[in-house]
Amino acid sequence: MKRLEGKVCIITGAAQGIGMATALKFAREGATVIVCDVRQSAVDEAVRQCQAEGASAVGFVMDVTQRDMVDAVVAQVKERFGRIDVLVNNAGITQDARLQKMTLEQFDKVIDVNLRGVFHCAQAVADHMVAQGGGVILNASSVVGIYGNFGQTNYAATKFGVIGFTKTWSRELGPKGVRVNAVAPGFISTPILSTIPEKVIQEMEHRVPLRRLCNPRKSPMSTPSWPVTKPVTSTARCWRFPVA
Ligand code: NAD
Repeated sequence: MKRLEGKVCIITGAAQGIGMATALKFAREGATVIVCDVRQSAVDEAVRQCQAEGASAVGFVMDVTQRDMVDAVVAQVKERFGRIDVLVNNAGITQDARLQKMTLEQFDKVIDVNLRGVFHCAQAVADHMVAQGGGVILNASSVVGIYGNFGQTNYAATKFGVIGFTKTWSRELGPKGVRVNAVAPGFISTPILSTIPEKVIQEMEHRVPLRRLCNPRKSPMSTPSWPVTKPVTSTARCWRFPVA
């Protein structure tokens, strides 16, 4: 039996990068994959690829900053599949600038998606997971949420905040059977890095012992053996270099 057979898994930001790699990995592990992202065409393509892996997959255009959209998707998933086993809070953005140059718009946008969006999705599924007797919430933090990073005041605040969410929710929900964990990957080669100058990318690669960025398909988030299937909670695990 596949490890996620029968599990209904919602993944936010699942149409590219780490989210899509996670969706495909979960599809191969037998999950019913609920692909959520902001662009219809990209959602459709991700669903098509999950189905090509033999999985049951459905897609929704869902902006995590819009609470009414999140609630509507959760309601539809509950109605159609009767349960929600896993929420992967993956959607995230960057809007980088040094402290003195960062605009309030840049600050607010990143807080809105990376922090408020994670709160929206977790709150929308929590009651249901408790009522069904268990579930897993996996949040995307970052090494930047442990060490900070030049030019990422807003992003660092959200990724530190996600670890705070994780530790708090694991205390609140763990005793009720809902495991809450975070992963804190190092730098992974996805479109989120596309605005970073090549020179900075090279410096990032130099800081990695293997001297290269990780491939999203090798990212810890897309490895369902941990922490989706293992009985751990309140963990913020950090990968500083490619795991394979
Ligand atoms: P990405 O830009 O490739 O993908 C992010 C996805 O999120 C996109 O498909 C995008 O459309 C979606 N998204 C953006 N705003 C959204 C919103 N409001 N609602 C729903 N979906 C939205 O990024 P990625 O590198 O795959 O990153 C995924 C997660 O992993 C992020 O939370 C990121 O902070 C985290 N992370 C990435 C790295 C890295 O180096 N790539 C390292 C550590 C952590």
